[in-house]
Amino acid sequence: MSSIAEVYVDLALPEVDRVFHYSVPADLEVQVGQAVRVPFGRRSVFGIVVGLCGESAYPNLKDISAVLYDGETVITEEQLTLARLLADYYLCPLSLILRQMLPFRLDSNAWPKPQVKKLIVPVVDHLPEDLPARASKQREILSLVLRLGQVPQEEIDSVTALKQLIVKGYVRQITVPVNPEGAVTAVNQLVRPPELTVEQTKALESLTRALDKGDPSTWLLQGVTGSGKTEVYMQLIAAALERQQQCLMLVPEISLTPQMVARFQARFGNRIAVWHSGLTPRERFDEWRRIRNGSAQIVIGARSAIFVPLTRLGVIILDEEHDQSYQQDENPRYHTRVVAQLRQRTTGCLLLFGSATPSLETYRASELGKCQRLELKERVSDRPLPPVHVVNMREELRAGHKAPVSRRLEYAIERCLERQEQAIILLNRRGFANFLLCLDCGHVPYCSSCDISLTYHLSTNRLHCHYCGQQQPVLSVCPECGSDRLRTQGIGTERLEAYLQARFPAARIGRMDRDTTTGRNAHARILQAFGQGEYDILVGTQMIAKGLDFPRVTLVGVVGADSGLHVPDFRSAERTFQLLTQVAGRAGRGDSPGEVILQAFNTNHYALECARNHDYLGFYRREMQMRQQGFYPPLGYMISMLLTNEDERELIADAAFVAAKLTELMGATAQIIGPTPCTVSKLKNSFRWQIMIKAGERVKLRSVCKQVLELYYETRRRTQIMLDFDA
Ligand code: ADP
Ligand code: ZN
Ligand code: ZN
Repeated sequence: MSSIAEVYVDLALPEVDRVFHYSVPADLEVQVGQAVRVPFGRRSVFGIVVGLCGESAYPNLKDISAVLYDGETVITEEQLTLARLLADYYLCPLSLILRQMLPFRLDSNAWPKPQVKKLIVPVVDHLPEDLPARASKQREILSLVLRLGQVPQEEIDSVTALKQLIVKGYVRQITVPVNPEGAVTAVNQLVRPPELTVEQTKALESLTRALDKGDPSTWLLQGVTGSGKTEVYMQLIAAALERQQQCLMLVPEISLTPQMVARFQARFGNRIAVWHSGLTPRERFDEWRRIRNGSAQIVIGARSAIFVPLTRLGVIILDEEHDQSYQQDENPRYHTRVVAQLRQRTTGCLLLFGSATPSLETYRASELGKCQRLELKERVSDRPLPPVHVVNMREELRAGHKAPVSRRLEYAIERCLERQEQAIILLNRRGFANFLLCLDCGHVPYCSSCDISLTYHLSTNRLHCHYCGQQQPVLSVCPECGSDRLRTQGIGTERLEAYLQARFPAARIGRMDRDTTTGRNAHARILQAFGQGEYDILVGTQMIAKGLDFPRVTLVGVVGADSGLHVPDFRSAERTFQLLTQVAGRAGRGDSPGEVILQAFNTNHYALECARNHDYLGFYRREMQMRQQGFYPPLGYMISMLLTNEDERELIADAAFVAAKLTELMGATAQIIGPTPCTVSKLKNSFRWQIMIKAGERVKLRSVCKQVLELYYETRRRTQIMLDFDA
């Protein structure tokens, strides 16, 4: 028996990022993967047992104080291996990764007790003679219990009679744990799969052949919007289940894809567990247990689902693998695609990326032969891709037409309403107006805690900061010059909706953006209403671009199709192309043909050109040239460091220290840009600077960054440093 446990304390601090040894008291059973409570300095902290050993080089070990959760293991060996790979890849404390894998914070109170039910079982084997005939209720209950062997306590209607039987020793009560059923209700009639198209069949055959071979292989299913990728996923999953394997199906944002989840539930019933951040603690716990004990064979979820403890994982699918929501925006800032690749290494599973607009990373991998590409070039049932028209808004202005909706789009909406079909209008900016402007002195009100102008919202009649959420009343006079000529500028979804309502008074208009989707299930409600034809027009931000499959949508309009191109980010063209292609793909998915109208000022940018022509490859080639020139991913490796501190002077000094060390250690092998203030240089009263390091070699870049961070933490400076990898 091992007497020493290696414990990772749950502090997630870089300076304690190592294993600590504790001795195991004789009365405790300790296993790898358990959660424990240990003394740490003067405190008592939580930790996870990551190893056991016979002896330790450290003298005077302290004892483990307690094993938590009835000794249940909270992390599998495979998860532990994955966590180690990730901590190394993202240069972050292991415990920070382990936290992603736990269903709850390590804390004795956060962990729900397994649900139990009470059963009544017989102690005797026949109706006893001394039970009087007039005790008819007792006789009735006892006969039932004898006949069935066990009866749930809540089904017994007389508490008094039951008590009597227990006191007399004829029956007793036992408690058994309930196996959770899962949040998904069982479906009686599971939907039968359709006949596959020729392209779908070819793709599925390649994938199932790979399953049979059993080597870990990586695939890209590149299929235009509406080509039936989801059907291929479902049949691949069915094939894996037949081979006794479990599957992980990842979708960008679960609340935006209720349709996708419903399709899976209709096909697979309660073999599915649904995993996302919106579950209640109880649901989360139940789903976690079903996943771990294998009663759920398919897990469908958003990015955090990539960590779930499936033990016979055969297939991981990342649907819409290009989607930005796969990037975690808090520490550790992992990319789900990277985690999936590492998890393929720890499990040997098949990995499938699906998209109409693959990320440059994935498409390049397919060109280099690191991942095999399968294509679905046609929509199902010979439906054409919708024609895309681009309207030049400069010409609209020249013609004296100042409205936010061009004449062409307006005409198309009118026709669409006449035909009683549906339209989706995208404007990727919420609120009413972008900002308030003083016409006399040019003053624009800014957030007092962030370096960002405030957005006007009509519903609250206030100015909102979209970064920190702070609000303030609208000013009636300019605080700079006293003028009362303050005007709202620019347009958001709220104003667009109002404009369309005024222009088409009879139309029923729904709006979907962050302001209308704050409640639980709000997304699903709006989408369901739209699906049932309660709205003619759905206005929204990028939320409405993703994965929706509504056959009556024949018109898609985009207001400000080029607005994303001005964002200072090397991925802005890629994001714009993806967004436009995806939203265009919502049109014409049913029997009636669709049409797409993009409004822009900058109409000849290649992102728009290629979206207009449904030309992925053209876009890929142009964009790769841009990346080559700037030495950006996927052609080079990049780490951006975000440094934040409320004290700006200290921040600047620390940034200079880090940059100098980086320069010293990287030499000529890297390009170091910065330190410079971020685009949003202040957020919630914290100042923000960044340093970007681009290099041709990943291993060296990482090891140098690691070294520099260690040097930095040695001096314990107060500036926070967050790393972003290739993002
Ligand atoms: P994608 O995910 O590629 O955008 P979907 O899988 O949503 O496409 O398929 C688009 C539509 O076509 C869906 O309504 C789906 O039910 C239907 N569909 C998919 N495959 C077939 C098929 N083989 N036969 C008939 N309909 C299909
Ligand atoms: Zn003014
Ligand atoms: Zn703010």
